[in-house]
Amino acid sequence: IPAVAIVGRPNIGKSTIFNRIIGDRVSIVDDKPGVTRDRIYGTGEWLNRKFHLIDTGGIEVGDEPILVQMRHQAELAIDEADVIIFMVNGREGITAADEEVANLLFRSNKPIVLAVNKVDNFEMRDLMYEFYSLGFGDPFPISGTHGLGLGDLLDKVFELAPDKDEYEYNEDVIRFSLIGRPNVGKSSLTNAILGEERVIVSDVAGTTRDAIDTPFTRDNQEYVIIDTAGMRKRGKVYESTERYSVMRAQKAIERSNVVLVVLDGEEGIIEQDKRVAGLAHEAGKAIVIVVNKWDAVEKDDKTMKKMEEKIRKEFLFLDYAPIVFLSALTSKRLQTLLPVINEVAESHRRRISTSVLNDVIVDAVAMNPTPTDKGQRLKINYATQVAIEPPTFVLFVNDPELLHFSYKRYLDNQIRRAFDFTGTPVHIVARQKN
Ligand code: GDP
Repeated sequence: IPAVAIVGRPNIGKSTIFNRIIGDRVSIVDDKPGVTRDRIYGTGEWLNRKFHLIDTGGIEVGDEPILVQMRHQAELAIDEADVIIFMVNGREGITAADEEVANLLFRSNKPIVLAVNKVDNFEMRDLMYEFYSLGFGDPFPISGTHGLGLGDLLDKVFELAPDKDEYEYNEDVIRFSLIGRPNVGKSSLTNAILGEERVIVSDVAGTTRDAIDTPFTRDNQEYVIIDTAGMRKRGKVYESTERYSVMRAQKAIERSNVVLVVLDGEEGIIEQDKRVAGLAHEAGKAIVIVVNKWDAVEKDDKTMKKMEEKIRKEFLFLDYAPIVFLSALTSKRLQTLLPVINEVAESHRRRISTSVLNDVIVDAVAMNPTPTDKGQRLKINYATQVAIEPPTFVLFVNDPELLHFSYKRYLDNQIRRAFDFTGTPVHIVARQKN
């Protein structure tokens, strides 16, 4: 999926355009306390083609001068996007800051589309001409407030976007990513996993992006570590902002089938860890919780058990995720990690036959009768698995409203118990059918 970034001075309407294009389909979960409410990253669709949209304005930090902020935005866009929408304000003309950004973008060799915002009606099109001088070809007039010109703009974006995902892997390749707040040891762990056999990947032909995937093979299983580029390129200011790391994590999660949620065993769990873990859970990925730096923890025979209890308590929503304790530094217990990754990847794509599934449901109902509501009893006619990654089951019922949360949870547990879905969420959906 191509990534598209919007770059431009503050307050020229970037967020309005962003919201117009993305609508409600924003992938950052914003109803959870703590998760940033600003929409800076979302997935949009235009003529059946999906794309990611990044509003670089979301990384504007504090009271830094506009020029500095814009440089960060441009850096971010250049690093992350396949196509950049450079937005200017048609009513104000070209400003010094616009020129500065134009220079940065120009040198990046990324495809750039120039969008001139606030061109609210046809008469205003004369405003366009001066923008040719920025050197990005035909400017596209748009209006955020009236929603004009966006179709033409997106047509152009797709014309310039690489038309094929350059990261396609065979389906039995396990794609995993390491996510976690800074300094929990993601890079160290990546290096430890790769160890001696480390392969630096050559760029795939035609690649315009500089994200790096690292493939390796162990015991005849192929793996790819997704999106480690951000961990290797250090020191850019925008990387230190939490919103940026959320976005980075989200992109990596999307492309993975297994996500390692890395925690710092020495420092323990903080709010930010939960947010990051929440992203992986929401995305329906297989998850392993990795407690790193276990070497640095003073231990007795109860320490691990206590830590485990703490994790279970703090990450209630991840009750299906196995926990691995290890040290990237000393490589202690590192060898336990890949087998767990294999196991959860396998659960994530497991298919259950309809007949066996229905036997389990019938038994579950026999043991614990379906709930009633206003004299009506939930009746499950039959169930079938409709998807993998994660396993998704549809229950055909007399009335979907009758499948209360607690009973759904019960069925979830019964299905888990019967089929060992370690490490993967399981989705259960009720549909009406008599
Ligand atoms: P990242 O930001 O999550 O990629 O974290 P890094 O891999 O850069 O590690 C942050 C710091 O933690 C570095 O100083 C590492 O040397 C240290 N570190 C990483 N893994 C371990 C570990 O297993 N044990 C100990 N004691 N330190 C570690």
